[in-house]
Amino acid sequence: MAGRRRAFCMECRKETAYALHKTPITKTIREKEYQFLITTAHCKECGCEVGIKGILDYNAKEIDEQFRKSEGIVSLEEVEKLGKIYNLGKAPLSIALGFGEVTITRYLAGQIPSKEYSDIIRAALSDTKVMKGLLESNKDKLAEAAYKKAMSAIDELDALFSVPSKMLMVISYVFEQLGEVTPLALQKILYFIQGLYFSRYGKPLFNDNCQAWVHGPVYAEIYDMFSSFRYDPIDDPRFELLKGKSTNLDEKEREVIDLVVNTFGMYGGKVLERITHKEDPWIDAREGYSENEPSHEEISKESIKEYFVSVREKYDLNTETGIMDYIQNMLISS
Ligand SMILES: [Zn+2]
Repeated sequence: MAGRRRAFCMECRKETAYALHKTPITKTIREKEYQFLITTAHCKECGCEVGIKGILDYNAKEIDEQFRKSEGIVSLEEVEKLGKIYNLGKAPLSIALGFGEVTITRYLAGQIPSKEYSDIIRAALSDTKVMKGLLESNKDKLAEAAYKKAMSAIDELDALFSVPSKMLMVISYVFEQLGEVTPLALQKILYFIQGLYFSRYGKPLFNDNCQAWVHGPVYAEIYDMFSSFRYDPIDDPRFELLKGKSTNLDEKEREVIDLVVNTFGMYGGKVLERITHKEDPWIDAREGYSENEPSHEEISKESIKEYFVSVREKYDLNTETGIMDYIQNMLISS
């Protein structure tokens, strides 16, 4: 569909340039009416719809996704992730979930799951305990090797996500708001969230301490957790287990996170790193270390509090504009 964006217009009787639009349509599925948005191509000269290659397949996929969304049914990708997370092939996964042997194979070929089966898939995708329970109750039908493989995947996941829960809630919320974030940027964003929260309420949002690494403040256990996620944690199927973990954050906490996400969150990890390198908490904790010398010195919460309280005296940290001013000044100062 991409490319030169020209097609033959039946009205103009020649090849013209076209533009893509979103068009609402009504469709009846299983005796129920649904509204879907499909993509249509229109001649730029007369406005008439033109046919272009690939658009039917594209819209079929769009309708499928929108239908699943409106019915709360898992996507094909989610079904795929389930197998990846628990290290199970299609047939053993099907059996482990208590489905027929070929059910998952059918879903992966595009068949839409029933709401009941979809809910089971989603529950297993968001909680290892659910999967463990399913594996136990279907153990007799499963090959021993498959059972063991899935159980050890669960143990690894449980170890991975065993960081303090407040921190997990914050990370889950940051992911929801930002859509994508690299491990480096995430580290800095967590640090600024802590700083901003300190400056407002005089207490920390989470209890974890960060360390003054070469590339700025780092929460080590979070670093370990994401070290294998590479550059885009959200592409990792294990991220599914983090979804929805932010539900217990209160309004104050969300407000601070929103502020940081909408300001600091607009910058890449390297830019954020430059800012932290000019701030006292990191500089002070690195005292005695040369530029590229690894350090695990803790940056005390007290120093973060002191610093961000002092920033608050000069900048309006309650508004995005005030925070952007701070960021801009930090980036131009030498
Ligand atoms: Zn035309």
